[in-house]
Parts: sequence; structure tokens; C-alpha cells
Amino acid sequence: MSQSLSASRSHTENTQSDKLQLLYHQSFQAVFFSLVAALIYTAILWRQPDHQLLLVWLAVILMTSLLRLALFISYRCKKPDKTAVLKWQHPYYISLMLSSLSWGTGTLIICMDKPLLFQIITYCFLLGMAAAALSVYSSIRYMSVSTITVMLVPITAWFTIHPDTTANLMAVAGVFFLISTLRATSILADTLHNSFMLTHKLKLAYETAEHLARTDMLTGLNNRRAFIELSERQLSLCKRNNTPASLLVLDLDHFKTINDELGHATGDFALQHFSELLQKSVRSSDICARIGGEEFALLLPNTGLSSAHKVAEKLRMIIASEVINTADNTFSISTSIGIASGQYELDVLLQTADMAMYEAKQSGRNQVKLYTNEQPVSENNSLALEPARH
Ligand code: GH3
Ligand code: MG
Ligand code: MG
Repeated sequence: MSQSLSASRSHTENTQSDKLQLLYHQSFQAVFFSLVAALIYTAILWRQPDHQLLLVWLAVILMTSLLRLALFISYRCKKPDKTAVLKWQHPYYISLMLSSLSWGTGTLIICMDKPLLFQIITYCFLLGMAAAALSVYSSIRYMSVSTITVMLVPITAWFTIHPDTTANLMAVAGVFFLISTLRATSILADTLHNSFMLTHKLKLAYETAEHLARTDMLTGLNNRRAFIELSERQLSLCKRNNTPASLLVLDLDHFKTINDELGHATGDFALQHFSELLQKSVRSSDICARIGGEEFALLLPNTGLSSAHKVAEKLRMIIASEVINTADNTFSISTSIGIASGQYELDVLLQTADMAMYEAKQSGRNQVKLYTNEQPVSENNSLALEPARH
């Protein structure tokens, strides 16, 4: 329950981040168009006397545009990640509101004492700006709703109480426009939200499926498929760098007896315990996997036969000396280990390490055997000197 809650919270946060990223990416263009529209509006109104107010308004528009540009540039420079991007939401909203207020209230103050034609031109500009806001800011509903409202409500209210009937009719048309843009905002915002949400759910489902397909469910180690994939990559890297690699195959001794005498659940617990020990005792760059029922593999990159032998011997001793406690039983396990080295073909390494491991079984179990070229050899036989594991 709490897992599904936190998953849905993370979907919602990721979706919000995506929407905000989209806004920041689209907004350079929006600021540019707002500036061009402000210049055209100023040119049209220039035919009227008293330029002072118009110039003040243009200066305010210029300042808010520069402020917004500075915000977008610093966003691009900082490149915030998915979680940090949410902190950029309020600054964006404040800068957007400043710009919308400058348009919605500023142009109304400028045009109020001008002839009706210029008031209608102003209204048309604001309708156009509101339509543009719908297309740019719809990914975050409250942003586009506030922008459209701040731009259209003051002038629509002014046109409603205007003494001229043409202005009143314009106000009616404006109200319809306002309602339909707010409705469109809502539909677009919902659609975008669902689409972003679906993308995240699909991504998570894909990652989960991918993880499950590569993981052994009992022990949490890599399964055979993942082991083959990871090891082949590592082996080709070792081959390219001309560094050695070794492979260990580990098989638990008399494991059937543990199942038979102590029960399958205890057997499972022993496998988990063994896996933890294995993972704890090797490097994170080594590749551990459960490749069969009670059979494990360990690829040691950049490790030659002699170092691999030391690792195997250390593992064998750690495992043999470990006492496993469950509610009902106390017992220990041992493992037979085969080592192969000296080449980079995974199939061959697996096969030869397996042969060495069977040799260890035949020699009495709880042993390490090495495989060099043709046959398994005893652990203190024929080990050439080699550099330490690095
Ligand atoms: P040896 O020393 O020769 O390897 O003997 P062994 O008993 O370990 O080998 P054998 O192949 O005869 O038996 C392997 C046992 O491992 C049989 C099987 O029930 C058990 N096993 C395999 N997978 C699991 C598992 O996931 N959970 C449990 N509890 N046991 C398992
Ligand atoms: Mg076994
Ligand atoms: Mg076995």
C-alpha cells in the first residue's frame, strides 16, 4: 500500500517536472513574440497624443521580458535534474504573472481614454495574447488559467460597463472567448498530464520487467541471462585491454541433504545466506550470479589464475566457517569451487570451471580446483607468478 502510494507520488512529481521542463523550453519563443507584439502595439498607438504612458508601459514590458530571459538562461545554465526542477516553478510563475499583469492592466490603462477603435485594437491584442498563452502554458493548468484571466478579465469588465454598445457586444464575445479558452486549457492540461503520466508508468513498468528478467528472485543475484550479458561485456573489455579474467563456478555440497533433513524453507534460507556472503566477500566490479539451483558463478575481471585462486580459497573458508542459524536449526554448509582462466570465451570458461568444480567434488568436496588448458590441476600445482589483482 505505502509502496504504491510512494510510486504514485513519484509519478506525479516526475510528471510535474516534465511539464515544467516543457514550459522552460518553450518560453524563449513566447518572450520573443510578446516583445514583438508590444512593439507593434506601441507603433499602432503612437498615432495618438501623449506618448509618455505608452513609453513607460513599453519599458515595463522590456524589463519583465529581460527578467524572464535571465531566468530562462540561468535555468539552461544550471540544467536542474528531475527533483531540482520543481524549485524553478515559483520563479517562473512570478515572472509570468508580472508579464501578464503588464499586458492585461497596462494596456487597459493606456487605452481607456483613447477612441473606441484603439480600445478595440487593444482588446484584439489581448485576445491574441490569451490564445498564445493557451498554446504555450497549457501543460500547467494554473499557469495558463491565471495568465488568461489576468489578461482578459480587466478589459472585458471595462468593455461590459462601457457606454458604447459595440464595446458591450465585444465584451460578450470576449466572455465566450474566455470561457472557451479556459475550457480548452483544461482539456489540453488533462491530456498532457495523462500522456506524461503514462510515459512514466510505462518507463517504470519496463524497468521493473527488465530487472525481474535479469534477477534471481530467491537470492537477488544476477540470473544466468544477466550473468552471460554482463560477463561477455567484461570479458571483451579485458581482452581489448589485454588484462586477465577468471571465472569461478561454486556448487554447494550435499545440498540435497540440507533440504531433506531440514526442509526446503531452510534450504532456501541457506541459499540466501550463501548469496549474501558471496556478495559481501567480493568486489563490486566482480560479477556474481546464481546460474542453477545451488550453483553459482563469479567472474573476476582483471584477475589472473593465481589471484583467482586466492579469492576462491578465501570464499571457501568463509563459507565453511559460517554457522547458519534459523529458528529451528543451526548448521553449516560448504562449497566446491572450480576455477578457469587464461582465455576470454565465456562458454569455454564456464565449461572448464564446471569441470574443475566436478573434480573438486570427486576429490572430497569443500575444495578449490583450477583448470588450466587441458585438465584440472591441484591447487598448489603449476601456478605461474602474476601481478596482484587490480
Ligand atoms: P553435491 O555435493 O554433489 O553437489 O550434492 P548436492 O546434494 O548439492 O547436489 P544435487 O544435485 O544432488 O542436489 C541439488 C539440490 O539442490 C537438489 C535440489 O532440491 C536443491 N535445490 C535446487 N534449487 C533449490 C532451491 O531453490 N531451493 C532449495 N531449497 N533447494 C534447491
Ligand atoms: Mg550441490
Ligand atoms: Mg549442483
